[in-house]
Amino acid sequence: MKEQIKILIVDDEKVIRNMLKEHLTDEGFSVVAVPSGEAALEVFRGDPNHLVITDIRMGGMSGVQLLGEVKKLDEHALVIIITSHASLDNAVATLKAGAFDYIFKPFQDLETVTEVVNRGMHKITLLHENRGLMEDLEQNNLRMEQSNEELKELVIRDGLTGLFNHRHFKEVLEREVARAARYERSLCLIMVDVDHFKNYNDTHGHPAGDEVLKTLADIISGRLRAVDLPARYGGEEFVILLPETERPGGNIVAEDIRAQVENFPFKGRESQPLGKVTISLGLAEFPDDADESSLLLKKADDALYRAKSEGRNLVVWASEQD
Ligand code: GH3
Ligand code: MG
Ligand code: MG
Repeated sequence: MKEQIKILIVDDEKVIRNMLKEHLTDEGFSVVAVPSGEAALEVFRGDPNHLVITDIRMGGMSGVQLLGEVKKLDEHALVIIITSHASLDNAVATLKAGAFDYIFKPFQDLETVTEVVNRGMHKITLLHENRGLMEDLEQNNLRMEQSNEELKELVIRDGLTGLFNHRHFKEVLEREVARAARYERSLCLIMVDVDHFKNYNDTHGHPAGDEVLKTLADIISGRLRAVDLPARYGGEEFVILLPETERPGGNIVAEDIRAQVENFPFKGRESQPLGKVTISLGLAEFPDDADESSLLLKKADDALYRAKSEGRNLVVWASEQD
């Protein structure tokens, strides 16, 4: 500690300057001594790691002025003022001005000086430790906020595809249906299921199947607007919520996704029964097909089932009658 923080002695009287310097050097401190406030300020500006001991009355800048300047550079800087016995008022005023302590001269015994300096050094050490702890605390808080954010994301996302998960989807769907009901708006729900996916897995292996699911998620996300909500509903089933969307708009999105998937060069797609990887889509519209969320899901699912039975690679609406 004594090596880290140096002592800066400021006095225009050479005898006092040298006496203090010699004594504190003997006590093991690293000491610099200068004859004026101006010179001291230069030293402090270059390295604020100094405990300042300054005479109060000097030719140019006074000790109190120096105190003010030093505090401007480092509000935690410690300054000890040397004053004469005759001016106790002065001494008290310096404390009010922010001095750490004062020493009277002439010095009766230099041990008093050592004591004051040691107390000053102790306080600086505590300040440094405190600053270090505060920084650690801020770092920890920042890290905690980040992991909280990450955790929140993890809780609502599907691990494989990065789309929202089933639970989050259900929550948002209920909210959106309630909102659409209140403001008398429409929304569309699209259920997506991969055609003959068991065959793809059986032929190319599960990891290749996972790659297909990831690519499908990218195709779906890529086609949607920021307000739309794509989710992985289950194994090879996806679901898409299109708020503020009526049937013609929903149809365009669904057809476009269907066509993109049909045309995507998935690895080994030739071995699929239809000669390519395809999806079937079932759609339902709020409020025309259903006026609450679970019925809307069921209607979309029924439509999807019909798309399967009608040959797959199709977009089918809940309200279409066969
Ligand atoms: P259909 O056209 O009638 O939908 O036929 P399908 O084979 O797709 O339907 P089925 O329900 O018989 O099989 C679904 C397959 O999806 C079975 C399972 O191996 C596969 N699957 C489900 N989840 C995952 C997954 O996370 N990764 C992979 N690779 N495959 C999955
Ligand atoms: Mg399925
Ligand atoms: Mg399937």
